[in-house]
Amino acid sequence: MTTAADRSPDTAAGLDTEAAYSPEEVHQEFGENPNEVRDTNHYQDEYIKGFVDKWDDYIGWEGRAASEGSFFIDQLRARGVEKVLDVATGTGFNSVQLLEAGFETVSADGSAEMLARAFHNGRERGHVLRVVQADWRWLNRDVHGEYDAIICLGNSFTHLFSERDRRKALAEFYAMLSHDGVLILDQRNYDSILDDGFSSKHKYYYSGDTVTAEPEYLDDGLARFRYTFHDDGSVYHLNMFPLRKDYVRRLMREVGFQKIDTYGDFQDTYGEDTPDFWIHVAEKT
Ligand code: SAM
Repeated sequence: MTTAADRSPDTAAGLDTEAAYSPEEVHQEFGENPNEVRDTNHYQDEYIKGFVDKWDDYIGWEGRAASEGSFFIDQLRARGVEKVLDVATGTGFNSVQLLEAGFETVSADGSAEMLARAFHNGRERGHVLRVVQADWRWLNRDVHGEYDAIICLGNSFTHLFSERDRRKALAEFYAMLSHDGVLILDQRNYDSILDDGFSSKHKYYYSGDTVTAEPEYLDDGLARFRYTFHDDGSVYHLNMFPLRKDYVRRLMREVGFQKIDTYGDFQDTYGEDTPDFWIHVAEKT
């Protein structure tokens, strides 16, 4: 594995993409006190091969395409966007959607496991993704050029555990955007989880009911979710920071975004009438 510095995104960024992707099982490492793991760097230990291999069962590409519809494409087209940087590529769902809609797309992520899987997924759909391994906190060091839009989707920003890291990441996004660029960033509706209390233990079902995601521990500084895959009984966890909607909007404003619209995602949430996700569309000018 090479580092991302000085790499051009025109290649597979030096990743040995086919070799790096193999579906072997490894256990996540949270130590003796999993609820004490509140570390921005820990995402690297959470997206291990086994979990990455199951990720597409979790997000379910077809179901997600149906629920997202053309929302993101419409937002980008309405602003005349041509070049997009996907900073949280994951397994590549949004990057592939953007490529298929004709956007010039660069796919970044801090996780080599995720990028390898994204590249593999892209290849299976007839695309060669331009992937770059880059952590958001040092994005400008590792990704070059200017973009009309940056997307950070799938509740990714939640992985940052300190305000300093959040401000740094947002400032890096801001700096990579053209003068009238737009940042589209989504997040789980943690307000509802925090305010309804842990006792509600809302379960989120994905891909029909083949995957369950549910909070296992919650306080103001940690939302620890358990992901259960019913096909083989495997269980993984993510430790995330429970971002409140207005806090994220304030941070965006404070790093310089002038106009922030926040949309609710009203997909089926098993009887809940509050959205599961918020989508922030932040404009530079
Ligand atoms: N957008 C994808 C989706 O919707 O399926 C992936 C979402 S996944 C919840 C979060 C992604 O953010 C992971 O691929 C992870 O590697 C990446 N990530 C988390 N923290 C990061 C950081 N500090 N810098 C770069 N990538 C990061």
